Order: sequence, then structure tokens, then C-alpha cells
Amino acid sequence: VKNQGRNGFHYFTQSLQELADRKMKIISELRTALQENQFDVFYQPIVDLKTKEVIHAEALLRWRRHDGVLILPEHFIEVAEDSGLIIEMGDWVFRQVCQFLLSLPASANNISVGINVSATQFNSNKHSALNWIEYLHELNLSTERVILEITEHTMMNQNARVSQKIALLHEAGFRFAIDDFGTGYSSLSALRNFNFDFLKIDSSFTSQIGRASADRALVQAMITMGSGLNLQSIAEGVETEEQRQILLDVGCQIGQGYLFGRPVSGADFQKHLKEASSG
Ligand code: C2E
Ligand code: CA
Ligand code: CA
Ligand code: CA
Repeated sequence: VKNQGRNGFHYFTQSLQELADRKMKIISELRTALQENQFDVFYQPIVDLKTKEVIHAEALLRWRRHDGVLILPEHFIEVAEDSGLIIEMGDWVFRQVCQFLLSLPASANNISVGINVSATQFNSNKHSALNWIEYLHELNLSTERVILEITEHTMMNQNARVSQKIALLHEAGFRFAIDDFGTGYSSLSALRNFNFDFLKIDSSFTSQIGRASADRALVQAMITMGSGLNLQSIAEGVETEEQRQILLDVGCQIGQGYLFGRPVSGADFQKHLKEASSG
């Protein structure tokens, strides 16, 4: 038994070591990726549920590794956050999105883009809210064109630095969305503590809306609450025509999901816009 225990311990430390090695490897690959421009920002349409017209977009980070493989954020965001690399990556995403906004035709100048921001980013003194404001200013873009998507996690980990940053950006005209709404323990407190502009209903509710009456009731309640607080609700993960119909029935006007379009490159997004406006 003793022996087994020792072996067990041995395995345990070995796998921890492996985990740490793997993490170090990803960190160094991410550094290279930043230097060698391996990242790309994809855009997913956010639409008017009734007309399917594109009204906004969400920016989603992609990593095109040197071997050509496209890596999704779930495989690297956490490591990027833990290592602090997310700050530099986040600034890069922000600038990319601004350039994208600048490249849109005048007919699309009412489209805003949502950017995901990690708590770590706002928490760092290496991230400057003023730089973001100035960057938009230099490009002659309105701050309203950027929607910062934060989770309740960011709201709950607030220290003076984070709340000052959020307040500064909000005052400057940036709009804020509470992301993945309804999934955490403190969604309601987050709404109480900050005057959000958008509420993004998590896809776990949307996906069950046609099957579970509880989810339908919850979504309806979120939308009623949202409009009471002057928030625009956006349903995430809309995949079927049935879901779109039920969402409209419960009063949801804005949605996002594979039914309307997957995340695509900036160039492809523009192509879709053009086709939609001419077609
Ligand atoms: P999120 O902010 O909740 O983004 C929505 C995710 O749902 C995206 O996954 C999107 O591709 C996916 N999605 C959209 N429509 C549908 C649908 O109809 N069905 C299903 N099953 N999924 C759908 P993605 O692009 O893999 O991103 C995952 C998460 O990574 C994001 O979740 C966000 O938390 C994070 N992330 C992405 N880009 C960034 C970034 O630039 N910075 C930071 N800090 N986080 C990011
Ligand atoms: Ca988001
Ligand atoms: Ca979300
Ligand atoms: Ca999410």
C-alpha cells in the first residue's frame, strides 16, 4: 500500500510537471505569435431578430499557428490571462477592431463592434484606458462604436483601478455589455453596481428555449428586467429558426448565432454586408 501511495504521488507530481511544461510552451508560442502576427480577429454579425439586418458585430480572437492550424480562444485565453500576455493581445485586438471600423463603408457607420475584455486586462497598470480613448480620437472614430463586453467576474473583482477605468471609458462614450448573463452567482449584483448598455443572454439559455419552459420563462424575465433597466438584450447562440421565433415572442429584438452567421474574417464580413445591402 505504501509503495502504491508513493507511486501515486510520483505520478501526480509528474503530471503536474507536464502541465506546467505545457503551459510554458503555450506561453512561449503566444509570445512568438504576437511577434509574428499569427493572430487574427474574426467578426460575427449581431442582427435585428425581426429583419435579420446586421446591426453590430462581435470581435473574436483567432490564432493561426505557423503550421496553419486555426486555434480557438478556449485553448489559449486562460494561459494568456495567467501570464499577463492578454494585456498586449487585448491592446492588439482593440487596435485591429478600430482599423476594421475605419475600413467599413459609410453606409455601415452605425455598426458598433463588441470586444471581449478580461478582468486581468483592466486590472493591469500596463493597460491604459486613456490610450484607447486617444487612439479612437486620432482615427476620428466615435467611442460609441466600441462595445466592451465584460463578465460579472470583472465586476466582482473590482478594485479602485478597475472601477476608475470602467468609469473613465464609459464617460468617454464607450458602451458596455454584460457578457454570459445569467451563468454566474452574481449577475444581478453586477447590474445593480453598473449602468450597462447591453445585456448578453448566455447561449445556454437560448439553446434550451424551445425545449424547456423554464428557460423560456427565464429569458423572458431577463428581457423584461433588461428593458426596465434601459438595457438592450442580445440573445447569444441562436441556431434555429424556432429559437428566433420564440425570442421574438418573448420580446427579444437582437440576436447573434450560427443561424445568422459564424465568425468570419474582416474581409468576409464586409463581403456579406455588401451582398446584403445590394441583394
Ligand atoms: P463569448 O464572448 O461568449 O463569445 C461567444 C462564443 O460563442 C464565440 O466562441 C462564438 O464563436 C460562439 N458562438 C457564436 N454563435 C454561436 C452559436 O450559434 N452556437 C454556438 N455553439 N456557439 C456560438 P469563440 O470565438 O470560440 O470564443 C470563446 C470565448 O473566448 C468568448 O466567449 C470569449 O469569452 C473569449 N474571447 C474571444 N475573443 C476574445 C478576445 O479578444 N479577448 C478576450 N479576453 N477573450 C476573448
Ligand atoms: Ca462576448
Ligand atoms: Ca458570451
Ligand atoms: Ca462565454
